[in-house]
Amino acid sequence: MNTRETLKINEKGHLAIGGADCTELAERFGTPLYVFDEAHIRNMMRMYRQAVCDEYDGNGLVLYASKAFSCMAIYAIAREEGIGVDVVSGGELYTALKAGFPAERIYMHGNNKLPSELKEAIEAGVGCIVVDSELEAERIEAEAASRGVVQKVLLRINPGVEAHTHAYVQTATPDSKFGFSVANGTAQEMTKRLLGMEHLALKGFHCHIGSQIFEKDSFVLAVERCLAFVKEIKYSYGFEAEELNLGGGFGIWYTDEDEMMSVEGYRTYLTALFSAVRRECARYGLRLPRILLEPGRSIVGEAGITLYTVGAIKEIPGLRKYVAVDGGMFDNPRFALYGSKYTAVLANRADEPPCELVSVAGKCCESGDLIGVGMSLPRVKTGDLLAILSTGAYNYSMASNYNRNLIPPAVLVRDGEAEYIVKPQSYEDLVRNDVLPRSLTPNN
Ligand SMILES: *Cc1c(COP(=O)(O)O)cnc(C)c1O
Repeated sequence: MNTRETLKINEKGHLAIGGADCTELAERFGTPLYVFDEAHIRNMMRMYRQAVCDEYDGNGLVLYASKAFSCMAIYAIAREEGIGVDVVSGGELYTALKAGFPAERIYMHGNNKLPSELKEAIEAGVGCIVVDSELEAERIEAEAASRGVVQKVLLRINPGVEAHTHAYVQTATPDSKFGFSVANGTAQEMTKRLLGMEHLALKGFHCHIGSQIFEKDSFVLAVERCLAFVKEIKYSYGFEAEELNLGGGFGIWYTDEDEMMSVEGYRTYLTALFSAVRRECARYGLRLPRILLEPGRSIVGEAGITLYTVGAIKEIPGLRKYVAVDGGMFDNPRFALYGSKYTAVLANRADEPPCELVSVAGKCCESGDLIGVGMSLPRVKTGDLLAILSTGAYNYSMASNYNRNLIPPAVLVRDGEAEYIVKPQSYEDLVRNDVLPRSLTPNN
């Protein structure tokens, strides 16, 4: 399952997602619009779950990293697929619980979890909290003690693996705000501290090396470094980790510069990863730990597209042609943030061959508000329907009301039928929390 199976060009020459014609979706729901193919999401979740079953005797759990796309429906799908989720804030935790997600299959992350968030997590009975600071460990200890409970935790370590990806999405280089460094000994010290805390039950370790990674070697190296650490801790403190959480980070297709992986393609990553775990455990005489994986982007990224209507078109002779759409950095800030590349398709004339390179601009008052530059398209006209592909991850979840634009709604397509999973905002929503102090209220 990949974008090629999710997306088709139908007999009318229109782009279709999950069997739904994009021009009909735009007519019915308006634009900008996020569209998700449910089958793709479920297939990816199943692929991960199945790999743990088939290749690691089911001794593990897949956690959907919900920061990639968080709304009640996605937690409900994850619940039905029998996987877990990870959350990184009180808001994501609240949304998951509200969707009926079982707390024991929720892992909580974050490098600076608030006291209120820790309290909410412990109160809800989340399966595990991934400790990322000493302060946090003390707060969990105090909160758990006051409730007379013991909270399961993992310690986030930084194994110092530099994955080949954008610097902003690398998370395990020596200079990182995440985790405790193995190289400088703080991970070892922190392990000892956690083992001495009465209301924490240390289950093992977590590492997440970054995102949009295609090199198998990076993941394998992370496994090797983590298990070397597990061994070191076993021999220093007599504590053998029961759990090892290897994070997420598997890459997806955005443009033809990226690999477009099939289900089998992703399976080969997991095969390499599990075999590295077995090999290193055998080498060090360790029991096989329970393995957790946290894919986010690879579950929802290619499942989603964004539909826009083309507005103003501006040609700057000898320089470039700007095609402006009714969205922008408020629904997709990734070009502005990372210079991320996307593929555009003219959804109402998807069968026409591309003939020009254009820059797709948003409607925000920022020169950097672009969706992409050098995007290859047929000759675009005002009123055309433009689809940006692979926007399922880190688009809606990063959206804002910048310039008081409305965050677009999201629909889920199943068997060609679409329904809202996130309703449209209204102007009323924009002022819902605004307050006019009495002194500023116009007198009448
Ligand atoms: C972001 C994140 C993930 C998911 O990463 P993807 O690249 O979306 O798969 C997993 N684990 C942690 C701790 C993260 O911060």
